[in-house]
Amino acid sequence: MNAKVLIIEDELELGELVQLYLSKDGIDSDIAVSAEAGFENMSDTAYDLITLDINLPGMDGFEFLQKLRQKSEIPVLILSAREGDEDIVLGLGMGADEFVNKPFAPKVLVARIRALLRRVRSDLDHSASSSIIFDSFNLSPEGYHLEKNGERIILSTKEFEVLRFLVQNPGTAFSPDDIYQAVWGQEFGDISTVAVYIQRIRKKIEEDPSNPEYILTIHGRGYIFNERKLKDES
Ligand code: CA
Repeated sequence: MNAKVLIIEDELELGELVQLYLSKDGIDSDIAVSAEAGFENMSDTAYDLITLDINLPGMDGFEFLQKLRQKSEIPVLILSAREGDEDIVLGLGMGADEFVNKPFAPKVLVARIRALLRRVRSDLDHSASSSIIFDSFNLSPEGYHLEKNGERIILSTKEFEVLRFLVQNPGTAFSPDDIYQAVWGQEFGDISTVAVYIQRIRKKIEEDPSNPEYILTIHGRGYIFNERKLKDES
């Protein structure tokens, strides 16, 4: 994906780790170690997305976001080390687009960044709806709606979120841990839950759930959405 990301992070090692993972995915990035430095970067470079740490020396992430939103609509993904919903509510109220809690798996962060970039780009492109089409399926990411040949397929919220995560990141294998973290938003949990959800989703979308065509199992690596099933409309 062709994009330029600004990473605002005072822990340089963490910033560099994010940068490394983004570059593996073909996404170019710069690191700013303070909010003030971030604004300086923005004055001479056009970015597509910002990842924003909250606890920063000097101006903190919330203050940065408030100032930023007075002049820019750029997508912002907050990396929050502070647990709890208050941060999320506060950040969303200030115009953040997405949250990832620290500590996070870099692969999950990159997947979220890609999904956010794709979402923003499809919003900009009014000719295309934000639906994702694979075979006779139509998945509407924001509307939590899945149809096959125009017939609604009923999925629970979490089933939908697992499917959406995989569909939005086709061709990448995700371990149950990655999926758990991406959908349930915690680093640790009952990982076996993921396999249960994958089974349920397969029963609803696969012709033969024991011989899946859409969500494939890669032994030792996890699950992958078969990108050959996607119609690339972008
Ligand atoms: Ca920090």
